[in-house]
This record gives sequence, structure tokens and C-alpha cells, in this order.
Amino acid sequence: MSHVLVINSGSSSLKYSLLDMTREVELAGGLIERIGQPVSTVAHTVHTVASPGEPTPTILEARYEDDRPIADHDEAFAAMLALFAEHGPVLTEHRPVAVGHRVVHGGARFYAPTVVTPDVERQIGELSVLAPLHNPANLAGIVAARAVFDDVPHVVVFDTAFHQTLPPAAYTYAIDAQIAREHRVRRYGFHGTSHKYVSEHAAEFLGRANDSIRQLVFHLGNGASVTAVDRGRSVETSMGLTPLEGLVMGTRSGDIDPAALLHLSRRAGLGIDELDDLLNKRSGLLGLAGHNDMRDILAGADAGDEASRLAYDVYIHRLRAYAGAYIAQLGGVDVISFTAGVGENAVKVRADALATLGFVGVRIDPHRNAERAPGIRRISADDSAVDVLVVPTDEELEIARQTLSVI
Ligand code: AMP
Repeated sequence: MSHVLVINSGSSSLKYSLLDMTREVELAGGLIERIGQPVSTVAHTVHTVASPGEPTPTILEARYEDDRPIADHDEAFAAMLALFAEHGPVLTEHRPVAVGHRVVHGGARFYAPTVVTPDVERQIGELSVLAPLHNPANLAGIVAARAVFDDVPHVVVFDTAFHQTLPPAAYTYAIDAQIAREHRVRRYGFHGTSHKYVSEHAAEFLGRANDSIRQLVFHLGNGASVTAVDRGRSVETSMGLTPLEGLVMGTRSGDIDPAALLHLSRRAGLGIDELDDLLNKRSGLLGLAGHNDMRDILAGADAGDEASRLAYDVYIHRLRAYAGAYIAQLGGVDVISFTAGVGENAVKVRADALATLGFVGVRIDPHRNAERAPGIRRISADDSAVDVLVVPTDEELEIARQTLSVI
């Protein structure tokens, strides 16, 4: 038995997943949200195999939900342990051999999964300068988890790691080199665990050697990024110093002329924190149309709401611009994959994003695209020069695999 517990600790949330890595299946997972607020929400889901002997066993799902106050990450961990004890699986019987942690920013230092030591903890804390919203929360999760699971190795997997292969031309911002160096201002890229998982699975599904193909991966969730993967290596990605750059997202603006901030500061008197809040939390689809969920945008546009229609058009316009730029950087493309909440579910977004790429031989099959099916699948037509896929991402499984790879 080799069980791995995966922890994704956010500023006000704790997401966890217990995986049986001999079969690569999730036994249980949960999400505790609104930590530190008067009422926190707790959800714990248990998967049990109903027919273990069969080639495709039936998985039963039982979900437990609850609202209660949870003050901090230590309390959240205590709540998680209580949920495992009450609803299963019992952790003493399914003891994890390791705990894997998602960490958002690994800076230029961390390019591989890393076993946690006091020095690694210190360095993750030090990288909070570059990710003030994320790394302190990730670290709080590591500290709380190490106190509870003190006899197994803990491994950190960085969102930035897959993008350590970006060439200097792709990661360098054209600003004063001395200032950039001093403050480590460069493009790092994020969603790396997902881009790695999806590009590897796409190659495997197609039966093609990953080191012989050029891929685009669109990770379109509430956060969104696109990566150009050249023969297995990330060579260009849309997020930068922080996860704010690039595509239009649920609540983040993506690309904007930096001088707009100077303008808003001078003319509207907005301070640093207000600008941070504006661009990260009140922009993107939410800022344009009042909803951050693509389902609401699509429904609004269908119902004739002009703001929703514009938000959708801006979203698609940016996707097309990035697709064109990245295909030019790669000198062509063999495979394009869509993943995450929007990428896996929004049929219209996939069709519209690629609608102008006929000139490079991209042809989507509308029936395949519209089909709702679980798992990885091809949505391009048989005569398409480029394979277009929907690849459900599984960051927890990827973190668990990488965790096992170093212990
Ligand atoms: P994620 O960050 O990957 O969990 O993605 C969450 C986002 O996916 C939501 O905010 C929605 O915008 C989007 N989403 C989820 N389901 C659908 C759907 N059926 N159609 C369109 N968008 C969806």
C-alpha cells in the first residue's frame, strides 16, 4: 500500500486529497473554505470501490458537508483529521507514506519536487516577497501538516517548477536590468503542475514521443494560462512574475498596459493595495460583466446582455492572440489541449478560441467537441493537421506522483 496525502493550503482554504498510488485513485478528498471567517464551510468526499474484482470497478461517492467556525490552519488540520476519523478512510489503516504540498512560488531556485527541511521551509517563507498572497498560506499548511504527520517525509511541488526551462528571451522583462536583478523581477510562470500533467498525458494518449512534438496547453479555470511546450519543455507561458499576467481570468485582468496603473494612481488616487485588489479580484470577467463564472457569462450573452457579450469577446480575442503568438514562437504546432473548469466544459470557448486557426490546419469536429464524456478525448476532425484534445487535469495526482518520485 502506498498512500499519499496531498495538501493545497490557500490563504483562507485547505484542500486535501488522500490517494492510493498503487492504483492512482483518490480515496477521499475535501475542501475547507473561509478559514478565519465567522462560518467556515467543510466538505469531505469518500470514494469506495463497490466491485473491486471487476476490470472497471464501480466507484461509490459519499459526501459530507458542514458549516462551523475554523479560526486558522491548525484548526483546519484538526478538522480534516476529525473528518477522516468520522467518515473514513481511517488514517491509521491508510497511513500516508508521504505528504505532498502544493507551493505556488519556487522563484528561480526550485525546479524539482523537494523534500521539506527547516531550510526549505525558510526559503519558501523568504519567497513570500514574490508571492505575498500564496506562499505564506502554503507555508502555514506545511507547518501544520508536519506537526500532525511528523514521522513521514513532506515534499513540496512548485507551480513554477515546470517553467524553469523558459529561455532568457522568454522570461526577461525589458526593464532596467539592474533593478530587475535586484528585485528578481522576471517571468516565472504558474500552473506548472497542470501544464506538465496535461502535456505528458496528451503525448501518451496520442502515442507520440513527447520529445518530438510541439504543444499548446490552455489551462482555463478561474485562473487561466497558456503554455507552449516544445518537445516536453515549457518555452513560453502567459503568467509572469505573478499569476496576474496574460489571459483574461475570472477576476484577474491579465495583460494591461502598466501605464494604466500609473494613470489610475495619478488621476483616480488609487493606492497600491487598491490597485492590487482591482486587478486581482475585481477585474477579468467579473469586472467586465459582474460574474466570474463562464457559465454565467455564456448565459448572459445568450440572453442578450451586452456586458456579458463583450466580456466573452475580450476573453476569446486574448486566447486567439496568444495562440497565434505561441504557434509563431514554436514554428508550428502538433497538439493543442484544453484543461480546467472552462477548458474541460465550455464547448463554445474551445470552438471560438481556435476558429481562426484554419490557416495552420486546425479543424475541430463540432460533434466530438460537443460530446460530454469523462476522461481525455480528441475533438479535432480526422483531417485536422493538428490534434486538439480535452485533457482533464489532475494536479493532486501529479503532486502525489512527484512526491513519491523523491522519497
Ligand atoms: P477551475 O478553476 O479549474 O476549478 O475552474 C472553475 C471555473 O470553470 C468556473 O469559475 C467556471 O467559470 C468554469 N466552468 C465550470 N464548469 C463549466 C461549464 N460547464 N461551462 C463553462 N464554464 C464552466
